[in-house]
Amino acid sequence: MINLILFGPPGSGKGTQAKRLAERFNLLHISTGDLFRYELGNNTPLGQEARKYMERGELVPDEITIGMLRNKLEEHPEVAGYIFDGFPRTIPQAEALDKLLASKGQEITALIALDVPDEEIIRRILLRGKESGRADDQSEEIVRNRISNYREQTVPVYEYYAASGKSRTINGMGEIEEIAERLAGEIEALA
Ligand code: AMP
Repeated sequence: MINLILFGPPGSGKGTQAKRLAERFNLLHISTGDLFRYELGNNTPLGQEARKYMERGELVPDEITIGMLRNKLEEHPEVAGYIFDGFPRTIPQAEALDKLLASKGQEITALIALDVPDEEIIRRILLRGKESGRADDQSEEIVRNRISNYREQTVPVYEYYAASGKSRTINGMGEIEEIAERLAGEIEALA
């Protein structure tokens, strides 16, 4: 059983890489951003609530995010492991995740951060926004707000797992294939 957190700023390639890793290592990919966008697309009460925050590039409150994640884990009790993408993004989320996994006799194996400079992130997100139509990928101001929230609220999660020797960083610049190989190398070294 391996449970991974794919970590990094918005636009660092977590979604693209998590999909590949899930397939290669037979893990369930859980992206809280995708889950929120699904709720938003279906205009559910949860989606309507999340929209207010997402549009501004703010984090959705922990209570809502953790509740949604808990439901998702309960839907899939049988998997060989998880790859979390975009979660946990705050210390309370990390603590809640550790508790949830511990209640199943499991734990986080490792957190792998993709290192990408700010200017490259902004370039990638604005490019993605042209194709995806994602509202929060359209304006440089919102993107900068997401990056600044990442620095303030999310980077401490890296430190949180570093305290138990679980955090590591890889270079997130280069071709998709090249980065995928770097990640796979890290994961194989964990087994
Ligand atoms: P992402 O696709 O991961 O960039 O997420 C898009 C947006 O969804 C974020 O800017 C937040 O508004 C919201 N979101 C996704 N994951 C989380 C999370 N773990 N905690 C709080 N908000 C989240």
